[in-house]
Amino acid sequence: MAYSPGDKAPETGRYKCSGCGNTIIVNKGETLPPCSKCKKAGIKWTLVAILT
Ligand SMILES: [Zn+2]
Repeated sequence: MAYSPGDKAPETGRYKCSGCGNTIIVNKGETLPPCSKCKKAGIKWTLVAILT
């Protein structure tokens, strides 16, 4: 599953940027940000690990 910046995170976990491979941790229900590393438009975040 891939999510866009501005979407709400469906799970607390690590999300990977499709543009540069940067990973971030976002809590469930928080808004997924733009990628602060590559700052590319139109990237997607992929949930790579659910954290508990
Ligand atoms: Zn990026």
